[in-house]
Amino acid sequence: MLKVKNLSKKIGNAFALQGVNFCAQKGELLLFLGHSGAGKSTLLRTLCNLEDYEEGVISYNGHCINNHVGMVFQHFNLFEHLTVERNITLPLEKCLKKTKKEATETAFFLLDQYGLLDKAKNSVLTLSGGEKQRLAIARTLSLNPQIICFDEPTSALDPLLATQIRGTLEDLCEQGKIVLVATHDMTLASKLKKYTLHFMKNGSIVESCKSDEFYKDKESFPSMSSFLSL
Ligand code: ADP
Repeated sequence: MLKVKNLSKKIGNAFALQGVNFCAQKGELLLFLGHSGAGKSTLLRTLCNLEDYEEGVISYNGHCINNHVGMVFQHFNLFEHLTVERNITLPLEKCLKKTKKEATETAFFLLDQYGLLDKAKNSVLTLSGGEKQRLAIARTLSLNPQIICFDEPTSALDPLLATQIRGTLEDLCEQGKIVLVATHDMTLASKLKKYTLHFMKNGSIVESCKSDEFYKDKESFPSMSSFLSL
């Protein structure tokens, strides 16, 4: 289980995160909603160890979260000057100390799964936005994280591709991953099937519920309802 307790972080003199608490179980999909500047990205970046924090505890099954979490960035953060295949093999060789053969096997397995096998030798620069995102997901999965964070996964995609990413998020949960999504995309939120919602404001989670609970009793969650324009 992922547990975040009383997490606070300052940027300058202001709190970017303040007293954030939540838990997530294997296979759970969590959506962090909120307007721009609410702290969603900072929360995911902090979980992924890309930001320091002043206070709080982040744990996965009672241990440090470090090697269990991966991030798919909003603008993908691929190595643009490398080939598709090398984008996966390089982190495997450098971070996980895999041999070239092991790294290549993993890369080809994932590229096949994400429909990019025929592009393996191409430069990343030749990929479309949707292909870049699939590569970013494959690269994150290659490191076998149990928790995967997506920062605004639909913001760089056209509506058709946004539909595909919804399926991918749900598939990852079915595989038992914990999936955390920061988004201000109301369409994404309204079309996913089953998830936990956390609404953020000024660095804090101000409303939380399960999706079915929300749709049964929207009046109890005024910030979320107004955000989702319901
Ligand atoms: P969201 O993802 O919900 O749009 P962010 O996590 O990006 O929100 O931002 C949370 C708060 O932290 C905002 O007030 C933002 O201005 C501030 N912030 C985030 N990153 C930085 C930074 N690098 N320097 C200064 N302020 C930042």
